[in-house]
Amino acid sequence: MREKAAEWRNPDFYTRNVWFTDKDEDQALSLRFTGEVFFDVQSPFQRVRILESTKYGKMLALDDMVMTTINDEFHYHEMISHPAMFTHGNAKNILVIGGGDGGTVREILRHEGVEKVTMVEIDGEVIKACKEHLPQIAAAFDNPKLDLKVDDGIAYIKNAAPQSFDIIIVDGSDPVGPAEGLFSVEFYTNCFNALKEGGILVAQGESPKFNEKAFAELNHTLQDIFGKENAPVSLFYVPTYPTGMWSFQYGIKGGIAPKAITNETAIDAFVDAKGLRYYNADIHKASFATPNFVKALIKK
Ligand code: SAM
Repeated sequence: MREKAAEWRNPDFYTRNVWFTDKDEDQALSLRFTGEVFFDVQSPFQRVRILESTKYGKMLALDDMVMTTINDEFHYHEMISHPAMFTHGNAKNILVIGGGDGGTVREILRHEGVEKVTMVEIDGEVIKACKEHLPQIAAAFDNPKLDLKVDDGIAYIKNAAPQSFDIIIVDGSDPVGPAEGLFSVEFYTNCFNALKEGGILVAQGESPKFNEKAFAELNHTLQDIFGKENAPVSLFYVPTYPTGMWSFQYGIKGGIAPKAITNETAIDAFVDAKGLRYYNADIHKASFATPNFVKALIKK
């Protein structure tokens, strides 16, 4: 209590005591931020802001949702990229839909065998904000293997050539606004068609504790399109998303199941060489273990 009183007497306390709250009707996650606003633009799609949280550093917020922060972005970006890359084993042509902060393409391009990454992000303001203010995350936009398109990923995949990608990553926001269509049956059917045989789809899969309905519906869609046994869920921990428990959901078009990987030695050599901070061979396998309440949610 005495420590708290000392904090309240500090004149900085009141300017620092500003909270950003990411919430639904029943739960919320709040981050204290410094009050400094580095970027605040209403784009045609969403309000794009770069703010600074006291614990997690600068962060990207879209409308009132935390998208990523400097201090924990590696949890998300390593886990959306490397399990699929190592499961596939020979991915050369990758499509990323969304992902405007650049963290996913940064991770994918760590794999030397990759020949081309096409990234389709709908909102140029997100890319601009992150290039200017989150350069650690937006670190690969100048890579010559990247073909960056500012366009709607839903329209893009509708017109994509069949069997053209080894991996498709849907790094989209929650199912509201421009990302709503990233959760539809039509969208994932088009993704299935655009994947080569042996290809892998990975989608930002929401949380089985925060938005159970969206989580379960997405899994049911993937089970319907890819097959019941081919829609595994990877769970991981992100401190700045409400509840902290988040998922990536998979569609496997042939090939091996992600939890059956056997190339642990190659994974750990890569992890050491690249200095990864979340992903490793044990985490890869563990993330595909499913708690019973999650099994019940996705059972059809
Ligand atoms: N990588 C972030 C993180 O660490 O949490 C979350 C993803 S955020 C960058 C999601 C991106 O998807 C946003 O930049 C948003 O503009 C983009 N997006 C939403 N709907 C889209 C669509 N229909 N086509 C392409 N991109 C879309």
